[in-house]
Amino acid sequence: MFTKEVENYPAMIDGTGPLLLDAMRFQAESFETQFEAVSALKVDLSARPFRITLNRTAGEEPELVTTHTLIISTGADARWLGAEGEAQYRAKGISTCATCDGFLYKNKPVVVIGGGDSAMEEALYLARICSNVTIVHRRDSFRASHILREKVLKHPKIKIQWNSKIDKFEGTPKTGLTTVVTTRADPGTEPAEIKIAVDAAFIAIGHDPNTGMFKGQLAMDDAGYLTLPGRSTATSVAGVFACGDVADNVYRQAVTSAGTGAMAALDVERYLNEHDPEAGVTHNKIDFKGWSVKELKDAMKELGISPKGCVEKKDYIERLTKLQ
Ligand code: NDP
Repeated sequence: MFTKEVENYPAMIDGTGPLLLDAMRFQAESFETQFEAVSALKVDLSARPFRITLNRTAGEEPELVTTHTLIISTGADARWLGAEGEAQYRAKGISTCATCDGFLYKNKPVVVIGGGDSAMEEALYLARICSNVTIVHRRDSFRASHILREKVLKHPKIKIQWNSKIDKFEGTPKTGLTTVVTTRADPGTEPAEIKIAVDAAFIAIGHDPNTGMFKGQLAMDDAGYLTLPGRSTATSVAGVFACGDVADNVYRQAVTSAGTGAMAALDVERYLNEHDPEAGVTHNKIDFKGWSVKELKDAMKELGISPKGCVEKKDYIERLTKLQ
């Protein structure tokens, strides 16, 4: 949504995030998809059909939507620092995704903020593209895994600025971000303030999956991401599916989200074909209308059903249909 130039989506050349979203919406609408700009306040997955409470009222009461299946694609929000200038230079030099925006800063100096695995991966990725990378971390050690940490520490193009917090982001409306102003977290260290001249800053201090309303209802990992037990998009509750970053803290790309979105749609279709949502019974209904009387009689014989009382074709059809 905030990406100025989409560099990593198949067939997208010179496109922005909003342009890609508009094209997706246009295409979905051409297949009669209906869009409702409304928030879900509460979800009840304990009974079928599932019940979703909206932040829109129907008369005096909040509007309820009932559904036999549900695809959750509520995403994960990147954490922001809340530092001065951050909102101003977001998408004008400040980003939370190196694979999305890194290419825009080819051969330019950049900063990465954070000390976890994401920060290490972002820094290593950017070091292949940018002129140099400075990691600014608030402590004197990384929490990242040993392998990634060692790769970063040994990388000739990556410099670490330990014990530092981001004070503010500076720039101009024309150039975007130009400077990251940091202060030392350990008092008494000189210089207390260090200004880093950069073209971009990548904030990698973690993500929060938007799964609050599913807590206690769906299985999730310690960080709150929905867990998908099999090789499909099915969650721990039959009929509920998940796609995109809400169930993925590894790839987090628009293209992988779109791919899992297609998987979820196919999974829902299969689920509805195989289940009677009202009864939860698995079966495929047969339409006997095109069958001949002989075929209907043979089917009844095979199933051990008495044809007694069946006179017309519709009588045979009725009896067989009742059994489904
Ligand atoms: P983490 O929570 O692991 O790390 C966040 C980092 O940001 C920490 O170093 C933290 O500092 C720092 N931080 C948090 N808040 C602030 C703040 N307000 N100001 C400054 N610094 C801040 O998040 P990640 O996204 O790195 O990783 C999430 C999970 O995904 C982890 O389990 C990770 O292992 C996994 N992952 C694995 C990868 C892989 O295996 N290749 C790749 C990416 C992620 P501090 O250390 O001081 O708390």
